[in-house]
Amino acid sequence: MSEAPCDLLVVGAGAAGLTAALTAAERGARVLVLTKGHAPDSSSMHAQGGIAGAVGDDDTAALHAVDTERAGRELCRPSAVKVLTEEGPERVRELVALGVPFDPELSLEGGHSRRRVSSVEGAATGWAVTSVLGRLAARTEGIATREATTALGLWIDGGRCLGVVTPGGPIAARATILAMGGAAALWARSTNPVGQIGDAIAIAHAAGAAVADLEFMQFHPTVLAGSRLLLTEALRGDGATLLDANGDRFVDELAPRDEVARAIVRKGRAWLDLRAIDRSRFPGLMVEIEKAGFDPATEPIPVSPAAHYTIGGVVTDLVGRTDIPGLFAAGESAATGVHGANRLASNSLLECLVFGRRAALAALDEPAAPVRPETPPLSAATPVAAHPAAPAPPRERTASQELREQVWREAGVMRDPADLADLAGSPDVVAALVARFALARSESRGVHYRIDAPTADPAFEGHFVLRPGQDLKLEHWT
Ligand SMILES: Cc1cc2nc3c(=O)[nH]c(=O)nc-3n(C[C@H](O)[C@H](O)[C@H](O)COP(=O)(O)OP(=O)(O)OC[C@H]3O[C@@H](n4cnc5c(N)ncnc54)[C@H](O)[C@@H]3O)c2cc1C
Repeated sequence: MSEAPCDLLVVGAGAAGLTAALTAAERGARVLVLTKGHAPDSSSMHAQGGIAGAVGDDDTAALHAVDTERAGRELCRPSAVKVLTEEGPERVRELVALGVPFDPELSLEGGHSRRRVSSVEGAATGWAVTSVLGRLAARTEGIATREATTALGLWIDGGRCLGVVTPGGPIAARATILAMGGAAALWARSTNPVGQIGDAIAIAHAAGAAVADLEFMQFHPTVLAGSRLLLTEALRGDGATLLDANGDRFVDELAPRDEVARAIVRKGRAWLDLRAIDRSRFPGLMVEIEKAGFDPATEPIPVSPAAHYTIGGVVTDLVGRTDIPGLFAAGESAATGVHGANRLASNSLLECLVFGRRAALAALDEPAAPVRPETPPLSAATPVAAHPAAPAPPRERTASQELREQVWREAGVMRDPADLADLAGSPDVVAALVARFALARSESRGVHYRIDAPTADPAFEGHFVLRPGQDLKLEHWT
């Protein structure tokens, strides 16, 4: 039997989930936060370079919007970019007021025309932000957190989301926000914590919510070879260079990530040279590199691309609403269209702050849930098909190493349609969806590169969306 519904159920304790929980609790709501593993185990906690936001004297929201749209290759949803860039500076200033110890200088990252990235100790931003928000949530009376409680599916009744299904039973809520991060750990080479395999996409799709833009997986170009350790863009912003096996530079280090990632894949092997930069700006990162057995003061460091950021996700409007009443999504789980076909560096933590807050405010407007709903959940165990006729016993999605290797091989930095067709038959719902979306987009745009169609085609200037009972359709979002 379920317990009494809370006002807001937030699934995920990364930057989006914590922002949503704190926003709602500040307004008197009773909030329950669920996490799959331990609360600090999120991509947010690992974020390095920082948070973009036009807070510099020489900067404006309009300039930030231009850079965001340029990176997004004709696919950014303009209304979402406007919200992100206009509300962003205020969200960054709120973090300052809460005590996030940002470095005095703003950083420059690839694709940005201004120094506008606020960071902590060069590369400890995610840790600093989630620590401050997490500590605040822990001492906020209206917020309870349940760790190691995996959402297996959504509780849908009468077309409305009443909460989630967990191994311990259903949890009821007036409104539910999916802030469950992305799917990049479904790829064998990834920067994400291992649990980030796209559960939000799986459970929302199973319950009948629209998903979009799943072909767009951003690969980070400079990840320490053989590890998950990301070597932040800010290093290249500070002058670190990329070298080939002959010790020669071969790419503009500050070009968009997709271009740098492809240049490295074409070279086969690459090294990041940190010898000439002020390494004392990145103390934590230098320790990690040394722990991995390299000396950044004397030798270039071997790097290769890895799956990093999931641009697609559960379709939402600008306040996080999905197609299912009572269900919201924010942060990396959501597809607002804000990143277009390529996310500008450091726009994702900002997205979590801006859209996490907006989703919480909109969720508080939901009508009250039925008091102590008794109905057992009828929908959305993963990975069953949308709208199962009968309840299926929910079970946790997992990703075997074999599956991860297959996704890396068949939906990697450079994609072959024959490989994608093979992956489309995967029993894993998210892997199969990624392949279907990537097959449909028979062009190259932003982070999605098809070897059989290496240029952009204006016919594809839109977002592929999958709605229940329909085929993939290209939609134009304004
Ligand atoms: C190494 C690294 C460096 C990065 N650097 C930057 C950067 O410098 N700047 C920037 O803007 N972005 C950066 N990013 C991207 C950014 O960190 C993420 O996009 C962002 O933090 C996502 O936040 P989120 O709140 O949406 O999800 P996450 O922070 O990933 O949190 C997801 C939460 O959902 C929970 N969860 C997942 N599935 C379930 C389930 N089934 N049931 C219950 N709970 C579940 C997890 O336990 C976790 O608490 C980086 C990412 C990585 C991995």
